[in-house]
Amino acid sequence: MRQPVRIVIVGGGYVGMYTALRLQRRLRPGEARVTVVTADSFMTYQPFLPEAAAGNVEARHVVVPLRRVLSRCTVLNGWAVAVDPEARTVELRPHAGPGRILEYDLLVFAPGSISRLLPIPGLAECGVGFKTIEEAIRLRDHVLAQLDLAVSTTDPEIRARALNFVFVGGGYAGVEALAELEDMARGACRYYPGLDPGDLHWYLVEATGRILPEVGPEMGLWTLEQLRQRGIDVRLHTRLESAVDGRIVLDDGTAFDSDTLVWTAGVKPHPLVERSGLPLDAMGRVRATAELTVEGSATVFAAGDCAAVPDLTQPGKTCAPNAQHAVRQARTLADNVVARIRGGELTPYRHAYAGSVASLGLNKGVAQVYGRKVRGRAAWFMHRTYHLSRVPTTNRKVRVLVDWTLALFFRREITSLGALTQPRRAYERAVRAEAATRAGDLSR
Ligand SMILES: Cc1cc2nc3c(=O)[nH]c(=O)nc-3n(C[C@H](O)[C@H](O)[C@H](O)COP(=O)(O)OP(=O)(O)OC[C@H]3O[C@@H](n4cnc5c(N)ncnc54)[C@H](O)[C@@H]3O)c2cc1C
Repeated sequence: MRQPVRIVIVGGGYVGMYTALRLQRRLRPGEARVTVVTADSFMTYQPFLPEAAAGNVEARHVVVPLRRVLSRCTVLNGWAVAVDPEARTVELRPHAGPGRILEYDLLVFAPGSISRLLPIPGLAECGVGFKTIEEAIRLRDHVLAQLDLAVSTTDPEIRARALNFVFVGGGYAGVEALAELEDMARGACRYYPGLDPGDLHWYLVEATGRILPEVGPEMGLWTLEQLRQRGIDVRLHTRLESAVDGRIVLDDGTAFDSDTLVWTAGVKPHPLVERSGLPLDAMGRVRATAELTVEGSATVFAAGDCAAVPDLTQPGKTCAPNAQHAVRQARTLADNVVARIRGGELTPYRHAYAGSVASLGLNKGVAQVYGRKVRGRAAWFMHRTYHLSRVPTTNRKVRVLVDWTLALFFRREITSLGALTQPRRAYERAVRAEAATRAGDLSR
């Protein structure tokens, strides 16, 4: 292979960033040029999104600036809109201006996944996902703004609507997001005279008969009981039927109004996967080999949520879409890229799922790791220690630790800064006021 080898990585998430980190460490000078194509300039440590939503961790500490950590790679921001495995090119559309074609010798394909939506009336208009830092922070601000509204209005219907919070999907994203936000809102109630935690109605709607399958059936059941004891209305075997104009209708006949609908009912591969020309499995994921190459290709590698990677510890199955696999796959993938460049043997990816830890609010958690079942404060502590050890870079570890330490001494922030998304609001108001004054002058 001619050198320097041109390596293009599509996606700067778990797989993309960890692969690039290892490549820049292992590659010799002049051996290869690594270009990372990704939508944002940062990698999001998704397991911390619920804690960011609850205000336990600063939003900026949950993301890793790619240009800082990948100093020996080129990071290009925008969307990869097309992949041509024959021509060995990726088409990049930056966020403004003309597109550009990137040629590669080896491609690492890791665009991850997006929320899997269903054709439910009103869902597209009223729902919000929980996969990005913007969604997590927006949700936090929104929940606090709903409390502000509830105590400020005299209209009982507006108040009731503001205090109904609906989450659909009982996997770790939905359960952790709901549990952390409920815990945050419960704590915030002390600053809202006239608002009791019991006035807030939290719903978790789950189509199957269990929640949090990641921690196993026994711990899932324990979590269910815990949430119900906290007054959270968990509806199993229930589906969202409609959400038109915020009117939530469940298939068990329940109907009520809500301004908060969080959709965490599963993920599907990023739409680029379908257009990539790469072989796909029945779930639309790229068919990968155990060596993390794409089936039938010697030049394309794939891993993470977008890929169907054989699980060698459970013959016939593929690896679940989670960070545990993504991080480890990235390591094997990077080593295999180096092996391919140097003409060495590729190593198969093998990792037995170790279990999961989940946070359910301050001092509350649940875990099942290597068969050990842990609950309550011990599991919460385990969740924090585990993720602190996993969050990339010492810089982020220290910042997260400082956030947590400060939270021990000071109460949580309860300000809703939702207006941050409309920074021109005050200026536009001034423009309107100025225009009105001028119009008054002219008519005088
Ligand atoms: C709230 C939440 C909590 C979670 N908690 C856990 C947990 O506790 N434990 C666990 O194991 N897993 C957890 N996960 C799952 C885990 O985060 C994912 O499995 C993991 O992020 C997958 O890594 P990935 O690299 O495949 O995708 P991602 O990390 O999503 O990265 C994909 C990247 O590609 C970029 N991208 C996509 N398309 C394009 C394109 N066309 N052009 C350019 N860039 C593109 C995206 O912007 C993104 O940066 C959680 C997920 C969520 C949402």
